Amino acid sequence: VGTNAEFEPFEYLQNGEIVGFDVDLMEEIAKSMGKEIEWKNIAFDGLLPALQAKKLDVIIAGMTATEERKKTVAFTQPYYTASQVIIVKEGDNSIKSFDDLKGKRVGVMLGFTGDTVVSEIEGVKVERFNAAYAGIMALKADKVDAVVLDSEPAKNYAKQNPELKLINTDVAKEEYAIAVGKNDKELVEDIDKVLIELKANGTYDKLLEKYFN
Ligand code: GLN
Repeated sequence: VGTNAEFEPFEYLQNGEIVGFDVDLMEEIAKSMGKEIEWKNIAFDGLLPALQAKKLDVIIAGMTATEERKKTVAFTQPYYTASQVIIVKEGDNSIKSFDDLKGKRVGVMLGFTGDTVVSEIEGVKVERFNAAYAGIMALKADKVDAVVLDSEPAKNYAKQNPELKLINTDVAKEEYAIAVGKNDKELVEDIDKVLIELKANGTYDKLLEKYFN
């Protein structure tokens, strides 16, 4: 199973160990399927190529099931609804919506859905970073005016950096799902079955409570 452990609270490193909501969820799925997971922590933009090259069987990485990605891999049913949010400096009142990003320097993470959303807005100066952390550093250093990132990791960065604030909008909703090989129909069915079970028996809610409050 491949992931990119830079996406708290879904997957992140704690004392060198990969932990997070996705990790616990996948471990529950594996347990129910009688399998043992070998975790691989790699760059986010290397995950889909590795799956296609069969170096991975599964990806769980807060990955949005986009139409574009569905062309090359198969996704299970969604397990989390997220959205893209805008992070700005506390005193900045010039940005209240995605439209306000026009003419601004906006940090995104290379290949993330936020990259796609921002790249579609005309007149934005898009700055691409390899890690969310790097984008946040650039914002704090005034090298960009805003950063666009998935809601939950964004909340974490805002919590850790009081000089930053979040702009929540209703647009740019997206759903995270587990990715498997394009022809692995059986694996999709098996994982979907377990996901339904975990949602019905309270395990999923317990994990939500553990990681999101
Ligand atoms: N949800 C975003 C995407 O799918 C970001 C995922 C991530 O960084 N782990 O592109």
